[in-house]
Amino acid sequence: MNTAVPQTEDAGAAACAGPTDALGTSAAQARSAALEELIRTDPGRFRVLTGDRPTGRLHLGHFFGTLHNRVRLQDLGVELFVVIADYQVLTDRDVADNLLQHVEELVLDYLAIGVDPARSTIFTHGAVPALNQLMLPFLSLVSVSELNRNPTVKDEIAHSRQSAVSGLMFTYPVHQAADILFCKANLVPVGQDQLPHLELTRTIARRFNDRYGAGSAVFPQPDALLSSAPLLLGTDGTKMSKSRNNAITLAATVDETARLVKGAKTDSERHISYDPATRPEVSSLLLLAALCQGRSPEQVAADIGSAGAAALKKVVTESVNEYLAPIRARRAEYGQDRAHLRAVLSEGNERARAVADATLAEVRAAMNTCY
Ligand code: ATP
Ligand code: MG
Repeated sequence: MNTAVPQTEDAGAAACAGPTDALGTSAAQARSAALEELIRTDPGRFRVLTGDRPTGRLHLGHFFGTLHNRVRLQDLGVELFVVIADYQVLTDRDVADNLLQHVEELVLDYLAIGVDPARSTIFTHGAVPALNQLMLPFLSLVSVSELNRNPTVKDEIAHSRQSAVSGLMFTYPVHQAADILFCKANLVPVGQDQLPHLELTRTIARRFNDRYGAGSAVFPQPDALLSSAPLLLGTDGTKMSKSRNNAITLAATVDETARLVKGAKTDSERHISYDPATRPEVSSLLLLAALCQGRSPEQVAADIGSAGAAALKKVVTESVNEYLAPIRARRAEYGQDRAHLRAVLSEGNERARAVADATLAEVRAAMNTCY
């Protein structure tokens, strides 16, 4: 399967950093480059936790933002935990619709892209009580004003379908710290939107160690690992998201993909050029084609020249369909056996519970709450 992703770090950073770089993306890109070097020389020192909300099928933003990195790290020998964040579905909606179906679809997507359940742990945090218990001491380590100023949470509130903002919306980044720290992960491959949450996790780990560690570190301070596409835009020109009806899913058919790309927002300039700051929609499409082709977005733009947006969309459609063909074939194959998907999850849940129980025991000992 051709899942090689070209090194377009500069392009990716430019595509996502923005004029103010409020999320600290440039610094995280630089740190990610340094981490890549460490991973190459000593993959065994890393443990990865990352995951997704079961709110729909995974899309190209996930793939190039984080999924590709997960499989790459797994194959380099890094231990991988993938959380299906079922409680987090309720951050921006009252009811978790079709939860079981969404959970199964995520497992299916993971298997199709190459996550290997024999080496990696796929679990739902709702099935791991000790993980959730970590949230209580963690909540005591952050202030309300710290939670209030999280830019990703503010953006999600703006896109939320709820009239009132729930307590879970403000506190889910703390829950995410529990997701990461229950298995003492030190590396988290994520998209740009997760950077403020990672910063909060680092703060929580540091404060826990300072307050209860008695001179030793109970928790590591995990790093974010950004890919070369930390913010892929959807067909409407905003972040591609499961919940925004703007995504091209990994499972989409060839025709659906063509229709979605055809409807993607572009601009009126006929000459196609790669300039993320002034032409975000065209540039995101170029980046997508480039990632699929293993070339730079500038090269793809040069090929198209003055042929206009229709030609660009044709290239994107063909590139995506060709790139995803083997993933889609494997997805269809794994989809025949739903019992296997549930078995993968139940084994993963069991493994995650054992890890969480051990960490909670350590936390209770550190906090003097063993009675
Ligand atoms: P929802 O709209 O339900 O929140 P989502 O599409 O934002 O769904 P999440 O489950 O919230 O997906 O995110 C899972 C992971 O995928 C996170 O690490 C996130 O940073 C990454 N990710 C999501 N969308 C993109 C994107 N458009 N570009 C790059 N990375 C992304
Ligand atoms: Mg999201």
